Amino acid sequence: AKKAVLGPLVGAVDQGTSSTRFLVFNSKTAELLSHHQVEIKQEFPREGWVEQDPKEILHSVYECIEKTCEKLGQLNIDISNIKAIGVSNQRETTVVWDKLTGEPLYNAVVWLDLRTQSTVESLSKRIPGNNNFVKSLTGGASGGVHCTDVTNASRTMLFNIHSLEWDKELCEFFEIPMKILPNVRSSSEIYGLMKISHSLKAGALEGVPISGCLGDQSAALVGQMCFQDGQAKNTYGTGCFLLCNTGRKCVFSEHGLLTTVAYKLGRDKPVYYALEGSVAIAGAVIRWLRDNLGIIKTSEEIEKLAKEVGTSYGCYFVPAFSGLYAPYWEPSARGIICGLTQFTNKCHIAFAALEAVCFQTREILDAMNRDCGIPLSHLQVDGGMTNNKILMQLQADILYIPVVKPSMPETTALGAAMAAGAAEGVGVWSLEPEDLSAVTMERFEPQINAEESEIRYSTWKKAVMKSMGWVT
Ligand code: ADP
Repeated sequence: AKKAVLGPLVGAVDQGTSSTRFLVFNSKTAELLSHHQVEIKQEFPREGWVEQDPKEILHSVYECIEKTCEKLGQLNIDISNIKAIGVSNQRETTVVWDKLTGEPLYNAVVWLDLRTQSTVESLSKRIPGNNNFVKSLTGGASGGVHCTDVTNASRTMLFNIHSLEWDKELCEFFEIPMKILPNVRSSSEIYGLMKISHSLKAGALEGVPISGCLGDQSAALVGQMCFQDGQAKNTYGTGCFLLCNTGRKCVFSEHGLLTTVAYKLGRDKPVYYALEGSVAIAGAVIRWLRDNLGIIKTSEEIEKLAKEVGTSYGCYFVPAFSGLYAPYWEPSARGIICGLTQFTNKCHIAFAALEAVCFQTREILDAMNRDCGIPLSHLQVDGGMTNNKILMQLQADILYIPVVKPSMPETTALGAAMAAGAAEGVGVWSLEPEDLSAVTMERFEPQINAEESEIRYSTWKKAVMKSMGWVT
């Protein structure tokens, strides 16, 4: 059959904590044409440790590319229309590999891992004056080309977010030899071309430029078109990450948020910064209910359980599995489920788990509003969990502002595709809002009264206090 001709297409690898995806978009309409997703295993070798197999991650990328190309073929879409590929990845997850053999030396240590806590504590003691020394500088990639982009580099604590270079003093302090670090590029430029190896048969992609690279949260900010100072988005994946664009200035938080590089879309383009509030455990609590308690078989089933009761019946679940992130930054916290009665059943616990995600978001939104001075009038959302309508309605109720979700929730991948398509030498994607005609929005308005919303939130805070100080 003759293959349909479309405008230029752009692919995106979205390598997340829970899964890997490859997605292909139409660069003219931002329409998602095809994708494939593979869940990634997580290993917990000891309490507080979280690892992944780097080879499994790599092979999942190959598999997703193969399968997506196959699906495009079935849709009669010619994959030679793919003009560029972008990459978005879980941030802070670290792999060290042998540069001669390409073999990893150890598993990937995932961003949720707590093993370096004591190292952090002993390093903190060596910091002259106070921790702001590191914070003021930092705000908080194999083979042929060894590079990363500014957004990923800004998450290492080795990168100076003002000069946009690896920082000699910080590398000395953390005892990291600078020569093992990748070259740092902008988030949108040609880094290299696709090479087809024995593991990747999608031959038609040979020579396609890889021209976009962003840490997942920056990619989502771009995918949500938050290009203006004060625009923010919250992504609900394994954790929750609320980023607010602060324009070309670094804003330092007084309320527990981090300063990070938002994006730099081109070698000669300016760098933009963001304030970030993060929640360690969001979707991960749903996965825990699935894998550890077995009360659901799939993440989607949580919605059915929660719907059956429509309330947590006074049960509160603080999923502080790895301590608490913003605004508390409390490593001594551990998870608790409280307010249980004889009447409580698994449906109430499911509901409380969803509410926990919303309360944690409220905490970081409150901190963001205090730092920025101007409260957000609505919240733009995306990520795997936003398919859950109960969660979205609860979020609007608990924040007491509307929650707005794009109908195409793969915003992270979209951001990586946009960066790749807009790169110099590719030029198939213009970053103008009218180009996103395929993106329609779904809106969730608060449905409870403000007083009820406040009462629930203050009870949550009581539960949070109880979760602290479990480990010393
Ligand atoms: P990441 O980018 O961190 O890999 P995703 O955006 O892919 O995460 O979202 C996956 C997470 O969302 C998983 O932790 C999963 O448990 C959770 N999740 C997926 N679907 C739902 C749903 N319908 N309701 C609640 N949680 C969900």
